[in-house]
Amino acid sequence: MSAKTLTIKEDILGANREKAEINRKLLDGHHIVMINVMSSSGSGKTSLIIQTINRLRDKYRIAVIEGAIASCIDADKITQENIPVVQINTAGGCHLDAQMIKKALDTLALGRIDLIFIENVGNLVCTADFDLGAHKNVVVLSIPEGDDKPYKYPVMFVEADVVLVNKIDVLRHFDFKLDAFPGIISGMNPSAKVFPVSAKTGEGLDRWFSWIEEAST
Ligand code: MG
Ligand code: ZN
Repeated sequence: MSAKTLTIKEDILGANREKAEINRKLLDGHHIVMINVMSSSGSGKTSLIIQTINRLRDKYRIAVIEGAIASCIDADKITQENIPVVQINTAGGCHLDAQMIKKALDTLALGRIDLIFIENVGNLVCTADFDLGAHKNVVVLSIPEGDDKPYKYPVMFVEADVVLVNKIDVLRHFDFKLDAFPGIISGMNPSAKVFPVSAKTGEGLDRWFSWIEEAST
């Protein structure tokens, strides 16, 4: 029984990967870089994306694809930044997939965009299983969530190009061993970058902005 379940999962992921490659080719044709931002709920993805828009909007034409299980609260916040935003409501679904992203891309004026951020559904369990056609994967882990999350949800961290450790402004209130954390990540994923940041105070964000600029050239 378990073997059959595994096969079904592989079929779903295989079909998804083919669609993801189509998305990536579409974006490459328009010289667009797409960055998939994943995290659990409440880690600060929306705040980070808004900070990033404000910093880079003079340099890049930015759009955002917002995934959410219900509400459009985050999409409404980003719409206030006056950039193109597409909301994908998964109606309870726990992750985005390549087909949903294709539909979102079809609504955007791709000829007038340089950089797309996807705010994935807040969930560390399965979001990283689904290739969306993004060029880079970013995981946001906030200090209150704890430094043990890479052990509990390894797939996310193995797939990440960057791990943003957010909310370092509250570090002293939590038992998060920030000095040891890059070693945990490099043990699982030697090429991943780890940037400790605070989307609230702006601390540490310069390295993240520089990384985006490198990723988009
Ligand atoms: Mg959000
Ligand atoms: Zn899922």
